[in-house]
Amino acid sequence: MPDCLFCKIVAGDVPAEIVSTTDHTVAFRDINPQAPTHVLVIPRLHAPDAASLALASPEAAVALLVETRRIAMAEGHDSYRLVFNTGEGAGQTVFHAHGHVLAGRDLTWPPG
Ligand code: 5GP
Repeated sequence: MPDCLFCKIVAGDVPAEIVSTTDHTVAFRDINPQAPTHVLVIPRLHAPDAASLALASPEAAVALLVETRRIAMAEGHDSYRLVFNTGEGAGQTVFHAHGHVLAGRDLTWPPG
């Protein structure tokens, strides 16, 4: 998608602090971290949100989920929060599916 920020990060056209890449995913540190570990895991395939990704490519959605856990563990966290903001009302600002991996501090419930 030509105007999609995260597609540009996947393509290497916008710089990001890359944490990992797989056949299906790219992970990078959030530019405005909300926890000591705050990594965004995104599919290479453009889909506007997580459920749309699962419908378009179950394989990519599963790969994304598995990669979120691998990253949390690799960063030394056996507890972490995985967030998929979906829709403007829930705070989604970038309409390319992405999971926020948050860890490294006490994470309260319910979230704000
Ligand atoms: P959302 O609000 O859509 O759930 O999450 C989008 C996230 O992308 C936000 O946490 C925001 O800080 C992050 N973000 C926005 N623009 C950039 C960018 O250019 N680079 C990086 N690394 N993160 C970004």
